[in-house]
Amino acid sequence: MPVPLFDTTTALEPLRERIDAAIAEVVAARRFILGPSVAAFEEELARYCGTRHAVGVANGTDAITIALRSMGVGPGDDVIVPSFTFYATAEAVPATGARPVFCDVDPDTYCITAETVAAALTPATKAVVAVHLFGNLAPVAAIEALGVPVLEDAAQAAGTRSAAGRAGALGRAATFSFFPSKNLGCFGDGGAITTDDDAVAEQARMLRFHGSHDKVTYEHVGYNSRLDELQAAILRVQLPSLDSWSDGRRAAARHYEQAGLGELVSLPVAGDGCEPAWHLYVVRSERVDELAAGLPKHAIGCKSYYRLPVHRQPAMRAFAGGVQLPVTDAVASTHLALPMSPVLSAAQAAEVVAAVRAVLG
Ligand SMILES: *Cc1c(COP(=O)(O)O)cnc(C)c1O
Repeated sequence: MPVPLFDTTTALEPLRERIDAAIAEVVAARRFILGPSVAAFEEELARYCGTRHAVGVANGTDAITIALRSMGVGPGDDVIVPSFTFYATAEAVPATGARPVFCDVDPDTYCITAETVAAALTPATKAVVAVHLFGNLAPVAAIEALGVPVLEDAAQAAGTRSAAGRAGALGRAATFSFFPSKNLGCFGDGGAITTDDDAVAEQARMLRFHGSHDKVTYEHVGYNSRLDELQAAILRVQLPSLDSWSDGRRAAARHYEQAGLGELVSLPVAGDGCEPAWHLYVVRSERVDELAAGLPKHAIGCKSYYRLPVHRQPAMRAFAGGVQLPVTDAVASTHLALPMSPVLSAAQAAEVVAAVRAVLG
């Protein structure tokens, strides 16, 4: 039986009728922008995360730009970001006028650490974007102890929890993406900012609507970046399932461990005190090219997502300078995502592990 890299349909099937009804309700009400569904979803997402505020925006990339600007980041500032992440994390920084400064990651968690951030601090550092990569958790408190505010990029970490709280409730502010393949995905583009900080939330609400409070006076050059009513209505139906889907992702990781995957490749290591809602299950191997070529022959989906890390991307050349990120380069050339979803069964995990064993011989 083929095992796909991810499965975004099976877990949604039981919700299909309620999603269709929610869409029909929005269409009947003919209120599509900043109406009751967005307001209700914002309240429910904030309650879920354990924050005072959630602000819906158009996508996870805008969420980062708007959150950074709401935290006071602008021209002349530096923002520390990982290079081993989706490109958008860094791309969102120049959009504020600030400069991205790249830092390295931990080889086991794939996330930034207080040490890698400390090595990248400059006198102009105004904020750090801590990416909770693949659903793992970056050590937000340890990074904030360096004296810089943290914006969590929780695009891949909806459903991840820790002793200190959920992803999205740990830094000055946090951002989510509801791109369809994320842990909590809508039927198009969507995003949100969560925060306990009243001023950050108010700025974000203003910036997402052209820099205006009241649609009469325009105080900032802002954005047209709203989560829309249809997407919010779809997300409202799904949010109550996020914890059980996350449990499914955690169970899938345990299935891999129990099937002996750790004897064949290096497994991802959960951050301190963290229970990751694994968005992607990313292993490491020196023989990653053989695996990437061989697994599809066994009908097993796999993908190396960030082969060319962000600091080596053409558009980031002006910001990367001569920065040396040895762990990022090593992880970029040895990582491989194996199938992961809320419904990945023990039998499927065993099939993946058998295929990995067959390829590696
Ligand atoms: C998906 C993603 C984003 C961007 O989200 P969009 O909704 O696609 O704009 C940002 N950061 C990370 C880590 C992501 O995975």
